[in-house]
Amino acid sequence: MRASDATQMYFDRAADQLDLSADMRRLLLTAKREVQVQIPIERDSGELATFIGYRVQHNDARGPMKGGLRYHPQVDLDEVRALAALMTWKTAVVDIPYGGAKGGMAIDPAGFSQRELERLTRRFVDAIHDLFGPDVDIPAPDMGTNGDVMAWIMNQYGKYHGFSPACVTGKPVEYHGIPGREEATGRGVGSLTLKLLSRLGRRIPGTRVAIQGFGNVGSHTAKFLHDAECRIVAVSDAGGGFHRAEGFDVLELLRHAHAHGGRLAGFTGGDPLTNAELLACDCDVLVPAALGGVITAANAASIRAPIVVEGANAPTEPDADAILESRGIVVLPDILANAGGVTASWFEWVQNRQHYQWGINRVRQELDRILGEAFEQVWQLSTSRRVPLRTAAYMVGVGRVARATVLGGIA
Ligand code: NAD
Repeated sequence: MRASDATQMYFDRAADQLDLSADMRRLLLTAKREVQVQIPIERDSGELATFIGYRVQHNDARGPMKGGLRYHPQVDLDEVRALAALMTWKTAVVDIPYGGAKGGMAIDPAGFSQRELERLTRRFVDAIHDLFGPDVDIPAPDMGTNGDVMAWIMNQYGKYHGFSPACVTGKPVEYHGIPGREEATGRGVGSLTLKLLSRLGRRIPGTRVAIQGFGNVGSHTAKFLHDAECRIVAVSDAGGGFHRAEGFDVLELLRHAHAHGGRLAGFTGGDPLTNAELLACDCDVLVPAALGGVITAANAASIRAPIVVEGANAPTEPDADAILESRGIVVLPDILANAGGVTASWFEWVQNRQHYQWGINRVRQELDRILGEAFEQVWQLSTSRRVPLRTAAYMVGVGRVARATVLGGIA
């Protein structure tokens, strides 16, 4: 199934509950703008290489469009389109004044030097600089991109438009970023996991958590939940993973990853396991925090965790979601679970525009408040309408975007 078909299926379920007209559905599902640009660079070897960059600006009914930039070999227009729509619903679920967008390039950043990545990123900005900006569309990090990439984007954008730190978020703290942005997605995944455990009447200390992906989201989720006395029993990255029934010393894992280019390979404090084994391992909470589409109809029956918290975007295919639901597995959906990143990005944008800086405590406090309120709204709606958390989250998000569209006027 195409990624955009999957997100549309989730949209349709909420639209049915909201009784949205066919015309409004068509409007909300159509992207405002999709661009595909050529990015030629000279590789360090002197070879001329040409890549394709994508940016899909899905919807701006509630504010400037917002969404990450992904560098990963599987990026294509359809995936970017699906992720852009997810951003529209996500910013609406947490009620921050943004629409949704996404961008990317089909490259494996591990195969590029830092200088080559910088050239690629700057050329991408050259190609789309008049299509994004602080009041239009604000990129941020996603898989394969980080603060360095965001700093190049800000710097290159400034060459055309002058000093504009709010044109991109997720920048390094030393370069107009804010403390707390880097950890925010994982902190949000962790804090919402605790809220869900409490709502389900489960004890938090000792909760066994398995996390797929040990990048930005996975590693910060692991740290947050470890600090909350959960047991991180399995972790993995693109190279495979490790299992430890008694729980890992997460600081040791972080130190290992830090010393080995972010990778877990070579870690000696656990038993090796594959990514497929991690998804099916015996745990209380499963957190997919890497690629999309990893929970499928083929493996959904083997998932043993009673709770799935979607750290990644679109990790669960709709037919797998139906299997999880029929098995009574509670899924906290991506558009709520990983919304901490875009929420802290909003704080960064606000501070850039005010030329002011909050302290880390204020960032964390505001983040916890916004996510906590969104969780309660979704939980209440899920309970009162007897729908899964995913449908309830989409109902909140899609409903807000539809109302803003009508209020703004269409004619
Ligand atoms: P990242 O690049 O920092 O880390 C990705 C991790 O996934 C790495 O550990 C990588 O090795 C691993 N991985 C890659 N391919 C894999 C595979 N086939 N099997 C298992 N692991 C694999 O990326 P990130 O920023 O942590 O993003 C992870 C997910 O979270 C993505 O779906 C992204 O869209 C989503 N997300 C990220 C943010 C953010 O603020 N960074 C916000 C919201 C959602």
